Amino acid sequence: MRFTVSSLLLFGLLSPSRAVTVNHDLREEAAARDCCQTLQRQLGPTAVLFPGSSGFQQLVNSYYSRQESEIVSQCRVSARSAKDVSDAIKVITNTGCKFAVRSVGHMPWAGAANIAAPGVTIDLKLMDSVNVSADRKTVSLGPGGSWGPVYDTLDRFNLTAVGGRSNTVGVGGFTLGGGFSNLSPSHGFASDNVINYQVVLADGRIVNANKNSNFDLYRGLKAGSTNLGIITRYDVNAFPLTPKWGGSRGYNVSQGPAIFDAMAKFTGKLPKEPLGGGSVVWGYNEQMKNDTIFATFAYLGADGTQSKAELFSEMLDVPFNSDTIRTNTNQQALSDEVDVAFPPGLRRIFATLTFKVDTQIAVGVYEKSHEAFAGLVGKEGISWSASFQPISVTHLQATQRAGGTLQGLSPKDGDLILLNLNSVWVNESDDAAMQAAVRKVINWATQEAKKRNVLHPWLYINYALPDQDVYSSYGRDNIKVLKQIQAKYDNKNLLAKLWKGGFKL
Ligand SMILES: Cc1cc2nc3c(=O)[nH]c(=O)nc-3n(C[C@H](O)[C@H](O)[C@H](O)COP(=O)(O)OP(=O)(O)OC[C@H]3O[C@@H](n4cnc5c(N)ncnc54)[C@H](O)[C@@H]3O)c2cc1C
Repeated sequence: MRFTVSSLLLFGLLSPSRAVTVNHDLREEAAARDCCQTLQRQLGPTAVLFPGSSGFQQLVNSYYSRQESEIVSQCRVSARSAKDVSDAIKVITNTGCKFAVRSVGHMPWAGAANIAAPGVTIDLKLMDSVNVSADRKTVSLGPGGSWGPVYDTLDRFNLTAVGGRSNTVGVGGFTLGGGFSNLSPSHGFASDNVINYQVVLADGRIVNANKNSNFDLYRGLKAGSTNLGIITRYDVNAFPLTPKWGGSRGYNVSQGPAIFDAMAKFTGKLPKEPLGGGSVVWGYNEQMKNDTIFATFAYLGADGTQSKAELFSEMLDVPFNSDTIRTNTNQQALSDEVDVAFPPGLRRIFATLTFKVDTQIAVGVYEKSHEAFAGLVGKEGISWSASFQPISVTHLQATQRAGGTLQGLSPKDGDLILLNLNSVWVNESDDAAMQAAVRKVINWATQEAKKRNVLHPWLYINYALPDQDVYSSYGRDNIKVLKQIQAKYDNKNLLAKLWKGGFKL
């Protein structure tokens, strides 16, 4: 027997308020079915994939975190061109179905770049082109590319770009959120090096945003995340490739304060020679069943030899247990070391904080993490780490040279440290406890940094927990400007209503 909502109401099997919800859900499901059918008619059967098909599953399996790959949307638009994205957005806004967008899917929280049925996911993973300009000064990147293959292509032209320190991380989300690179101390964020965005707007128009055309949108996209449009191509600066020096070293945990002090000294030297990148990672590693601390080193000087890396002298003086530092290496090899430490397919969450250089906070974050995760260590696959990365004044000066940012950062802020808490586990049953532990550490660190007068308000969107208030951290005036840009390019507010995932203005 089939029941309608009105018959269930009549027989008292449904309360009026529940009936409103059911009606709403049914309408949404019908809209999503309609949306996917229309999408398939317009874009063709190979571009619109449904659950159960191998194409759909392959794309879903390629998310970085388990939480993201567990979400099953009504259908996936596997876009191959800006026109596909434009056609998709027209259907989606006409039908009113909810959607999410993914490039490579490395933002780990559930729903960052995926959406459950009745929502539709626009998947840009196949848009992974890399085209070097004739004068070799710029390169056009599809959002679905990963940095490893991008570097491989650029190598053939003796070029590089301001990209990820992991080979697997995506061009699209990384660049949209800012993007910290080993080149950042000299060239700023990846987004500072975008000279043109090709964007699909809410009404389906494909436009370019650069210094001469749609300049407000260009400026907004450097801070606008999932609010202004879908980027279908990034044209970015290319730089001459130089051999690199670098690698990583492992230490006894007792060396933590010393290595952190040394990193602060290294950051202070960057104004003289902004060619070095480094970080310190402290945590518990499940495979080693032990606490670990390691530091990463990268130097981009012309010949890549250690003699040029005086910059790191204090860090190099700290006694170490293991060492992979070598001359004449390249970005992909350095990134491989990161990728080994950050395998895909696990449950994972990031959280972030920014503070002025302060060893005490770093030591405190490590000790507090120990305490917060103590009851969880031993459960399957649990690891946690806190990585500390300098945001040097030279980086912020490069950002300013490129036109400044609406993210609320300025060279006047001085050298800063960016914290990325990264926790990993296997079982869904541990989700709540792991997330609670992460929140405990971040809340403690925020309060402690405030107390010590070293808190910087900025929260890095690409490392934030979904409920960290990233946009408030940019400052009221910047949000006002971003909202004006949003209203100009989407005057019906369609993206705000329908685009789920990511961070919202
Ligand atoms: C192993 C690993 C290494 C990392 N290394 C670094 C690093 O070196 N430096 C650094 O700064 N960060 C790093 N990150 C963080 C990384 O920058 C973010 O996870 C980033 O979002 C990944 O980009 P993606 O394309 O894979 O993201 P996705 O998960 O596909 O997207 C992230 C967000 O951006 C939105 N989005 C993506 N593409 C588009 C588009 N084309 N148009 C509009 N919206 C879009 C999505 O909807 C989503 O909300 C790393 C992360 C991991 C897991």
